Amino acid sequence: MALEGVRKRYPDGTEAVRELSLDVKAGELVVLIGPSGCGKSTVLRMINRMIEPTGGRILLGDEDVTRVDPVRLRRRIGYVIQNVGLFPHQTVRANVATVPRLVGWSRDRVRGRVDELLELVGLDPGTFAGRYPHELSGGQRQRVGVARALAADPVVLLMDEPFSAVDPIVRTRLQEEFLRLQAEVRKTIVLVTHDLDEAVRLGDRIAVLSEGGHLEQYDTPAAVLGA
Ligand code: ADP
Ligand code: ADP
Repeated sequence: MALEGVRKRYPDGTEAVRELSLDVKAGELVVLIGPSGCGKSTVLRMINRMIEPTGGRILLGDEDVTRVDPVRLRRRIGYVIQNVGLFPHQTVRANVATVPRLVGWSRDRVRGRVDELLELVGLDPGTFAGRYPHELSGGQRQRVGVARALAADPVVLLMDEPFSAVDPIVRTRLQEEFLRLQAEVRKTIVLVTHDLDEAVRLGDRIAVLSEGGHLEQYDTPAAVLGA
């Protein structure tokens, strides 16, 4: 995936992202880090086409995301947000099944996939599939969010502060499990955080954004720490 000279100016004039270029290799986990308001979420929302860039291009493989059919794009890009954003009135099973259903998988295939994913993120389907989000702990909701994002086997996974809503001990455990999961599934991931420890622990490369949406550095954790 690649961002080429991507810019975003909101209608009120806010320059959220300026001329951002990033290449993300297949299977690479890139962390975007920077102070609040530097444009991190805006970048993810543009990749997912929840909003349109004002300039530049975003390529998925060699395809411009603006040319990809929106339903296909939802299948190719998984999205995990802070506080997860699960549908509160739907069970864990229905939440995880959202995208597979949307793209028309058969009932049996959806069921099998949901069970497999819940196992993958460490939730026993027999125990958790029928629960509602409010019947889960913060860490469990986070896992369901990851399972939901992986559900349609996306090419790219976008994660916006995925571990920030849980307490530090649970966070460390989830980060470790997430690294094991990533070693297994090898997704191309763009993860947003404002926590340098998390960036260093998880990132293959770290993109450091400054206030005003400038890219200051794009390098390995060792190089970023050494700088
Ligand atoms: P981050 O995720 O790094 O905290 P955001 O991408 O959320 O940053 O925001 C980047 C900048 O754009 C901020 O100044 C924010 O106030 C502004 N912004 C975000 N969304 C909008 C919007 N819909 N309209 C106008 N300005 C926005
Ligand atoms: P944690 O300490 O991991 O944040 P909680 O204190 O929120 O966990 O919950 C402890 C356990 O109780 C978890 O396994 C959770 O799934 C379960 N639980 C929490 N709320 C409910 C509920 N309303 N109904 C059933 N089980 C629940």
